[in-house]
Amino acid sequence: MIEISDLLFRYPEGTFSLRVPAFSVAEGERIAVIGPSGSGKTTLLNLIAGIATPLEGRVTTDGEELTALGEADRRDFRVQRIGLVFQEFELLEYLGVMDNMLLPYRVNDVLRLDGEARERARRVAERVGLADKLDRNVDKLSQGERQRVALCRALCTEPAVVLADEPTGNLDPANKGIVLELLLESVAATGSTLVAVTHDHDLLPSFDRVVDFKQFYEPETA
Ligand code: ADP
Ligand code: MG
Repeated sequence: MIEISDLLFRYPEGTFSLRVPAFSVAEGERIAVIGPSGSGKTTLLNLIAGIATPLEGRVTTDGEELTALGEADRRDFRVQRIGLVFQEFELLEYLGVMDNMLLPYRVNDVLRLDGEARERARRVAERVGLADKLDRNVDKLSQGERQRVALCRALCTEPAVVLADEPTGNLDPANKGIVLELLLESVAATGSTLVAVTHDHDLLPSFDRVVDFKQFYEPETA
């Protein structure tokens, strides 16, 4: 489902480099990625999503060799088949909960925003306890609620791959459990593959596999 081989990535600026000789995730597998801050976990999610492109090597996600696609094709692919939960949420402050959830449908016309899509969004929101806040502007929500909006937005398109960057990072312990359960159940229901970066070690047993990023990380020596 996700295959990375002989990858070398560098940002245009700075000295960070990421080498991943081989990394793969099976279809429907739900994996947790752990590792030190700055080791490239967010970068890896961006590579799997086709947001970032490597200098060398190949990235194949859901059968598409992203490293062979142009930027526009990668964007269409991403909107249709990837659900992204960003570390910083990336919500639009001046929009309400529902409109934020429906943003993927407005990016371009590869997804159809119809009654069914709206109904799916409502159902996902209900499961995370946001049903009574659909019209509220997201700048009037708590951090935990904002986190849940970001999660719902990634799930409502029922993507083949869900990439979640510390999806429980801003939640209290009770909400962490709820959100993780929602995430795991939702991907299981749609047969989606999940890659979740997390620092919550008590949540790790819920995943099929844990990948420690330390193995790809070469801290710079002075
Ligand atoms: P993690 O998510 O594991 O904390 P990141 O993938 O965010 O790590 O970042 C890995 C490294 O790349 C860090 O050293 C970070 O400072 C650097 N980095 C992240 N984004 C950029 C960027 N746009 N340009 C240059 N360096 C970056
Ligand atoms: Mg990160």
